[in-house]
Amino acid sequence: MTAHFLGVEVACDGPDASRRCPESAAISPSLNSVTATEVRADGRTDGWSRRRRDGRLVDLCPNCKPAP
Ligand SMILES: [Zn+2]
Repeated sequence: MTAHFLGVEVACDGPDASRRCPESAAISPSLNSVTATEVRADGRTDGWSRRRRDGRLVDLCPNCKPAP
């Protein structure tokens, strides 16, 4: 029997609400990451961040992350 994982894709929400990510970036999860939480943990090691925008959480790739 073959195990099959659907996986989770976490994509970048872009630099602001009206612009899409220029790279159409998505986190590439490690082999063991299945849930969105685990995939986001992989992203953090690559420089991704989560922040709140207009009352919801967005995921930002390293290119779209606002300067500190
Ligand atoms: Zn981006």
